[in-house]
Order: sequence, then structure tokens, then C-alpha cells
Amino acid sequence: MSDLRFQAVEAAGGRPKTSTQPLALQKATALYGKNVFTISKMKDFLPKNSYKQLVEIIEEGTTIDRDLAEHISQAMKSWAIANGASHYTHWFQPLTGSTAEKHDAFFEPDSDGSAIEKFTADALVQQEPDASSFPNGGIRNTFEARGYTAWDPTSPAFIFETGGGKTLCIPTVFVSYTGESLDYKAPLLKAINSIDKAAVEVAQYFDKAVTKVTPSLGIEQEYFLVDLALYNARPDLQLTGRTLFGHISAKGQQLEDHYFGAIPERVLAFMVDLENESLKLGIPLKTRHNEVAPSQFECAPMFEEINLAIDHNQLLQNVMDQVALRHSFKVLLHEKPYSGVNGSGKHNNWSLITNTGVNLLSPGKTPKNNLMFLTFFVNTIKAVHEHADLLRASIASASNDHRLGANEAPPAIISIFLGSQLDELLEEVESARVAKKVKAEANLWHGIPKIPELRLDNTDRNRTSPFAFTGNKFEFRAVGSSANSALPMTVLNAIVANQLAEFKIEVDKQIKKGTKKDLAILNVVRKYIKESKAIRFEGNGYSDEWEQEAAARGLSNIKSTPKALDIYTKESSLDLFEKMGIYSHRESEARHEILLENFYKKLQIEARVIGEIVSSLIAPAAFTYQNDLITNVKGLKDLGLPKEAYSSQLNLIERISKHANTILEEAEAMRQERKKANALEDVRERSIAYDELVKPYFDQIRYHVNKLEQIVDDSKWPLPKLRELLFIR
Ligand code: ADP
Ligand code: MG
Repeated sequence: MSDLRFQAVEAAGGRPKTSTQPLALQKATALYGKNVFTISKMKDFLPKNSYKQLVEIIEEGTTIDRDLAEHISQAMKSWAIANGASHYTHWFQPLTGSTAEKHDAFFEPDSDGSAIEKFTADALVQQEPDASSFPNGGIRNTFEARGYTAWDPTSPAFIFETGGGKTLCIPTVFVSYTGESLDYKAPLLKAINSIDKAAVEVAQYFDKAVTKVTPSLGIEQEYFLVDLALYNARPDLQLTGRTLFGHISAKGQQLEDHYFGAIPERVLAFMVDLENESLKLGIPLKTRHNEVAPSQFECAPMFEEINLAIDHNQLLQNVMDQVALRHSFKVLLHEKPYSGVNGSGKHNNWSLITNTGVNLLSPGKTPKNNLMFLTFFVNTIKAVHEHADLLRASIASASNDHRLGANEAPPAIISIFLGSQLDELLEEVESARVAKKVKAEANLWHGIPKIPELRLDNTDRNRTSPFAFTGNKFEFRAVGSSANSALPMTVLNAIVANQLAEFKIEVDKQIKKGTKKDLAILNVVRKYIKESKAIRFEGNGYSDEWEQEAAARGLSNIKSTPKALDIYTKESSLDLFEKMGIYSHRESEARHEILLENFYKKLQIEARVIGEIVSSLIAPAAFTYQNDLITNVKGLKDLGLPKEAYSSQLNLIERISKHANTILEEAEAMRQERKKANALEDVRERSIAYDELVKPYFDQIRYHVNKLEQIVDDSKWPLPKLRELLFIR
């Protein structure tokens, strides 16, 4: 790296680190849940009766009464203080996308001047954060600016340690004074409730012992690491989470894969530390060592009950940040930190598990279980087929737009990959031959084709599918690495719940008309297989042919966020969410607005940062080098040398002028477009203007900046280069 950049890096935060801090992976059993107030610990701290009551509430999803809240708050306080916590906070997930906290001390001054430890039932079940600055999409006018947070008993409290001390964190929902959800968690809990209800009713066709169905979720998290000092010298990374400029050779990834080889020890030390810290918080993390792109990594916890899995993923993001700093790294969760290098996602592995311990998406061993599997399998496919646009909207964000539908990215088409064995199975179930056979059998189940033993390594081959069946779960892969999974998972559970409810109505109708139950189920399953065919795709999802074929099949391919979000305010979506008890019309509309706001604000920030970097860093560097060239040419001329002696220099001088002028002119033109967009009242129109009229400048300016990067004297280039950022020593 050039001296200039080293100086810049040093000024911003010190030299890149090369040292390693060897740390041993501690014994998982000793660490796991150490900082969590688990149900089993509650047992020790609660009166017997209260404990029993709480367990029932968690199982049945009912609310906590005053007396119980009093007992729990005392228990929580005792445990937290015994473990060194000095403060407590309600930990919630506002629609900004991160998590929020409001800290209070346990200790309050008493009237006689001494201090008492105070934490009451009120502090547990209800808090009133001064939260008027959180996005609410117009739901909270200033006069009702209060938002309430209340403990979600299905997610245990935990102690978060920072340099500043230990804080008891209480996972909470965040609702407005008038009862509307202002966060990600409240609608998710409602969606979990609705799929529980719908899935239990359908599962009872097969097994009356099923009284509860819980969605499970395992989230694979991809991320990039970058040296903290280098990060601090890149204002674009700091302010937008991605590099807005930087040249990388077209073949960079393949070559660099080879070049980077094994994981540096420094990264391994980070991973071990991350794993230890996560285990303490009850996050059953297993780090992975496979890099896709240079300095890109992945980790995944064991799957858990969905609400907990999402809380843990949110918490994991905080832990990653914290642990990274200890190792002088910065974690990049942006979906596309480097153009020309693979992006990052957050694969959501989802299935449905009954209180009897059966995974409803695991192909059964008996014919009866096969029909149950087929029922849930096909209903999920049908739900995705009917509501692909809602799923697409659920993963839409300014940052994920770089990963979906952009060039060098998979298309934004939602399709399902099943693997050839299951794809063929559905073909067969649908065929007239099977229908005939089933009718001929005394026992209908024996007519259904046997589900082959799935070769698990075979189910997952197609990495290009946004929604794939992988053996005993569906994997929604289009979710962005920085997203809160609650939104896509709320939508997925809502549409499947809705589908299962419709399925039950159709089956019951047939039964009422005298069709035998199992035949009725099979009839509707076969009908759904036929109706949802268009969404099934086994081929290469990244190919151009697929875009054409998908269009011919009538599948949507909505490339940009503001248009993808339109579906939220369509009558059919409003009704679906309301029917499933997830969002009122007003809540849907508020969310639509918040998502649009998040979108254009991200672009607005990027545009500003580009303008500033271009005029204050890039252009000056270009002109400095150009002046050197001019001096050189003048000198050569003075010596009386012929023109051939400085023709290359003249050419460079011209090229620098061309590129430098272009970036300055385009930055100004972009500013004008931004002003026009800002003047638009309607947030959807403003978002579209940002997307279609402002954003195109980003790549144009980047192109010319990258050209300059290749020309300008390396020692004069002001920003750490991509190859430097991507190379961890
Ligand atoms: P990969 O997709 O890389 O092959 P795995 O299939 O091993 O990885 O697991 C990916 C994630 O899926 C893990 O978090 C795992 O715990 C989770 N998972 C496995 N079974 C289920 C299930 N039934 N429901 C939800 N998640 C699951
Ligand atoms: Mg996976």
C-alpha cells in the first residue's frame, strides 16, 4: 500500500493488524446459555406455582397477569444481579432494521439517600420508551408519540456484556399507544400463531394427537470481514456499508480464491471468539470456514423455534460487531459490499414441527405419513406460487437490490427447486395413472407412489434457486444478509397459513359431499400440484434463458424495491394479512411507507457520499497526478525532445481530464436529479425517482473513477483499493 494511503489509514485509526490472538474454543457445554435466564434457571428462582403458570403461558401463548409478572420480575432481578448486571433494558426490533435498547439502572436512590435495587412488574411487562424517533409510517402522530414495549415470554432474557458492564436484556414487542405494531416481532408472533392454528387443523386429519405446530428456522449468515483501520479510511464503507468505488479485475474472484488460500489465523481467532460469545448467549452457533469470495465467511446456528432463531440472529449481528472490534475487524453485513465480488445472503431454513415431534416437511416412512408430508409440502409450494410477489416484497431493500435483479446477480424471480426425485414424484402423483390406482386400492395410501429415500447431498445441488427444498425443510435463500428475517418469515408463515386454511375448506367440502377423507385430501393435493406448476424450476436460475422462460410462464421479475413493494397495498394482500390477524389495513399501509422511506433514504445517503468523495478526494488526486505529468511534459519539451518522447504523457493528461470532468459533471447532474426527487411529495414516486433517475449515476461515476484509479500514480490514490480491503493478513 502506498505511503499516502498508509498515512490516511493511520490517521483514521491505526495500521492494519497482522497479529493474532490465539484463543481456544472453550467447552461448549460449559458456555452454552451461561448468560441466559433459561426456563430451567427460572425454576430455581420462581415459586413452584408461578413456574408452572409461566410454562403454560409460553406453551399456550396467553398473557401474563399482574401477580405472575411481579414474581418473574423479582426472579429476573435476583438472577441478573447475582450474575453481575447493573442495568436492564427492553430489547426490541424497531423497523429501522437493527435492534434498540433503553437502559435503566436497577439501582435507584432511596428517600434516605441510600440506594435500593428496583425492578418491578411494571418494568417487566410494560415500558414506555421515548421512541418518537422510530419509524412508524404515520401511525403515531406526535400527540400519541408513546410506544410501549412488553416482554415476549417465549424469548428468554439474557445478559449482554460490553466493556462498560453487564446489562439484563429483556426481549420485547414494540406497539403503539393504539395497539398497532411498530416492530418486526409483534407481527411475527401473530404469524406464528396463525400458522399454528391452520397447520394443527390440517395435521389432525392424520393425527389427532397434534395440538401445536411450531415453525422452525435455521439461519445461515454470510458476511465479509475487513480490517478496521482500512475500513476507517473508506468513508463510503463507513457511511453506506459498501464500497461505492474500486476497481477489481473481471476475473478477480477466481484468481483471488487461489491467491488467498487458507483462512488467516487472525480470522480463525475471531471465529473462535465469536462462537464462544454466541454460546454464552444461548445461540447454538457453528462457524463455517468455507469462503465463497475472498474475505467472505459464513456462520450458522442449529435451527430453533422461529421466534428465538430470529432474536438470536439479531443478537448475533450485535455480537459479531462487538467481537470483530476486539480483533480489529469490521463486519460487513451489506448484501454487496464489493462490486464484482459475490454478494451475501441469509439463507432461511424453514420447516414445521409438531408437538408430537414430527417434522411435517420430512418425507415419512409409512404411506400414511407420506400423504401428510405431501399435504404440507404441496400446500407450501402452492402458497409460494400464489403469493410469490409478497415473498419478493418481503426481501426487498435498497441493499438487496444489488443482489437480486442487478447485473452479476441472480434474477428477482421467485421459483422453487425441489430436486429431481421430488419433482418426479409430484409429476407421478398428479398423473391419471395414480388417480386410477388409488381408487382401485382398498387402502388409498397404498396407491400413492412411495417417496424415495432422499439422497440429502442430492437435494441441495441447485444453488441458483431462491427457494429450495433441501431434504426436510425449505430454504429461502433470497433473504439479504443484513435483513431482519422476521419480515420474510412473517410473510412465509402467513401465506402458508392462509393456504392451509383454504386447503381445509376445500377438503371439508368434499368430505361433506361424501368423499372419503383421504381421497378428498389427495384430490385437493393433486389439484394444487397442477395449479402451482409454473413456480417449479429445476434449471439454472442465473441463466438468461430462465428470465425468458419465467416471463413466458407469467412469473414476475420485479427488479427494484419500490415496485416490488406495491404488492403490500393491493387489496388481496391487505385482506390476507387482516384475515390471518397479522396486519390491519392501516398497519400494512404504514409498513409500506416505512419500507419506501428506508429505500430512498439509503440511496440519498449514497448519492451524497459519492458527490463528496468525488469532489474532495478523487478529483484532487487526479489533478495532482495530472500536474506531475504536465511538469514532466514541459521538462521534456524544454530539453528539446521530439513529441514522441511525451506523447503517452499527453494522452494520459487528456484521459485524466476526460474522466475527471465526467465525474464532476455527472456528480452535479446527479445532485440536480436528487433535488427534483426530493421535491416529490409522494414517497413512492420519490423512491422511484431515486431508483430510476438518481441511482443510474452511481455506476456511471464508478466507471470513470475506476478508470482514474487505474491511471493515477498508486502513491497518490487516496482510498484503500479493493485488493487491499479484500486481503486479510
Ligand atoms: P447447508 O444448507 O449449508 O447444507 P445444513 O443443511 O446443514 O446446511 O443446515 C442449514 C441450516 O438449516 C442449519 O441452521 C440447520 O440447523 C438448519 N436446519 C436443519 N434442519 C432444519 C429444520 N427441520 N428446520 C429448520 N432448519 C433446519
Ligand atoms: Mg443452505
